[in-house]
Amino acid sequence: MEPQRSPLLEVRGNIELKKPLIKAPSRLPLPGTRFKRGPDQMEDALEPEKKRTRGLDTVTKIATSQSRAPAITARTQTQNQITAPKVPKKTGPRCSTAIAMVLKNQKSGPAVPAQKPGAAPPMVGGRKPTKRPAWDLKGQLCDLNAELKCCRERTQTLAQENQQLQDQLREAQQQAKARGAECRTLEGELARVQAQAEQGQQELGSLRARVLELEEQQCTQEGLLRELQKEQLGLQEERRGLAARLEEQERRLQASEAALSGSQAEVASLRQEATGQAALLVEQGERLHGLEMERRRLHNQLQELKGNIRVFCRVRPVLPGEPTPPPSFLLFPSGPGGPADPPTRLSVSRCDERRGTLSGAPAPATRHDFSFDRVFPPGSRQDEVFEEIAMLVQSALDGYPVCIFAYGQTGSGKTFTMEGGPGRDPQVEGLIPRALRHLFSVAQELGGQGWTYSFVASYVEIYNETVRDLLATGPRKGQGGECEIRRAGPGSEELTVTNARYVPVSCEKEVEALLHLAHQNRAVARTSQNERSSRSHSVFQLQISGEHTGRGLQCGASLNLVDLAGSERLDPSLALGPGERDRLRETQAINSSLSTLGLVIMALSNKESHIPYRNSKLTYLLQNSLGGSAKMLMFVNISPLEENVSESLNSLRFASKVNQCVIGTAQANRK
Ligand code: ADP
Ligand code: MG
Repeated sequence: MEPQRSPLLEVRGNIELKKPLIKAPSRLPLPGTRFKRGPDQMEDALEPEKKRTRGLDTVTKIATSQSRAPAITARTQTQNQITAPKVPKKTGPRCSTAIAMVLKNQKSGPAVPAQKPGAAPPMVGGRKPTKRPAWDLKGQLCDLNAELKCCRERTQTLAQENQQLQDQLREAQQQAKARGAECRTLEGELARVQAQAEQGQQELGSLRARVLELEEQQCTQEGLLRELQKEQLGLQEERRGLAARLEEQERRLQASEAALSGSQAEVASLRQEATGQAALLVEQGERLHGLEMERRRLHNQLQELKGNIRVFCRVRPVLPGEPTPPPSFLLFPSGPGGPADPPTRLSVSRCDERRGTLSGAPAPATRHDFSFDRVFPPGSRQDEVFEEIAMLVQSALDGYPVCIFAYGQTGSGKTFTMEGGPGRDPQVEGLIPRALRHLFSVAQELGGQGWTYSFVASYVEIYNETVRDLLATGPRKGQGGECEIRRAGPGSEELTVTNARYVPVSCEKEVEALLHLAHQNRAVARTSQNERSSRSHSVFQLQISGEHTGRGLQCGASLNLVDLAGSERLDPSLALGPGERDRLRETQAINSSLSTLGLVIMALSNKESHIPYRNSKLTYLLQNSLGGSAKMLMFVNISPLEENVSESLNSLRFASKVNQCVIGTAQANRK
């Protein structure tokens, strides 16, 4: 395919391809033709002129040979005519002028010196001139006429040629004009094309910029493409992995489905089995409940056989710094089963200086033997002691009121037994925290059989026949705001302490916090009234409510853990000062309440119609937990010191009296 040419080139080509406008070759050069030719062509164009001139020259030479001066002149003018092509347009007229001059010179022949007669006549028409003698004027005239005729012919020819040339010139001028117009058109076109080219250049520049931009974009896209390809590879890899996993999962699913159908059959048979098991479970539950009720009944019976009032004696160890008593002072004889049997007897020997012999020798020591349900010699651990009362405490969950007292002189170990030793050593934890932990644990077990238990704790002290809340907080803390014992409601047997806090508890930590608070309240009170804690009764009460919603059963009882006031008596021989009068009143109040407790127990034992509960705040508060189906346990705490023997004997005697009491339906098993 031929490449497209720009319009400019096309125009040029047209110009180059245009044929010379000279229609026919002429013997004379055409100025228009010369104008169109290049410098090299000029010579060629000039050539015919020269030839023509030469031709003239030849003519002139003929004339010269006739020694005519005008011929020489004519030759000079012809030479001038040769240089004329430098101004081509003027060549035409000049040429005609030269011809005219030749003719003129030829006409002015007579002015030229006459040729001698006999001189060779001038050559005319190429014929060899014949020499005419000078005298042959006629001949000469004839020659001249011939020559003139020839010249006239020639002039005519030249005029015709001139006419032709002028025609050609006009034609050439018209053509030049047309060319000029065409040239202007082409120039306009060229300008337009140049403008277009310029615009094209601009467009090209912007296109180049665009190309660069696109190349950049392409680079980015290529980078992106490479990344995407890489990612695609990764994804393909991942897809392959996933496909493999899927295959694996499908395999597993199939296996699982197979297993599932097997399992479903198994489940169906298991369901059937479960239905049977449920029926069995209901049956077992019924049986268990029956067994539980039987256990409670037997447990109660066992407790009653052990005695609804039991007395344990506990002798505290000798404390560092205290005098060691003689080895025979306190003895713990073994029971009928030998040393393997837990001790139940205690023997105290007392030397009475007042009962001296007449000879002055000291009277022999008197032995006092006591027998209790259990005797704990010094060194008995807290857990050992609790083990003995755990079953009794559990009775409270079965709905039997339980009362545990700690009786004894100040410093004999009552508080240690009930609350525990100093510090947070779990080894020395007392009965209260241990009993509660045990109750919470058993209640949880019974929860499995459908029982739900709730516990509410209160802690009060009775000092000088006034009741004070040991769990008081805020402004009442340590102040011992007055509390009263009242019936919970009209016609209700239940008693409550007004202004005292009743705190629901469900875990050991809560009980710990309450004991800590009670301890703090006692410490505050101790600053105002010396040793008040040992001069008051502390009563920790836990009200237990149990419910078996499935069977519509309910049970309720209270567990009372009482740290009694010191049982020591005032020495009547001591003189009574103003301070001691208060102390006497205080002691009398304590003794009165302790003896009321004894009297109540006696009255219960003797099944008297009137039980003097109201004679003291302590018995009044505890009246629902004393007697009837209630279970009572008294710890008689004894000091191991010989110097406390008198108070120890008093305590032991009081405890023995209590121990002889029988309350309830069953007979206590006493040895
Ligand atoms: P009470 O309450 O009867 O006045 P405490 O319980 O305060 O007597 O005991 C008096 C002191 O004897 C306390 O320091 C106590 O730690 C200590 N004590 C009492 N019983 C024991 C025991 N079984 N083992 C170790 N120390 C005891
Ligand atoms: Mg105490």
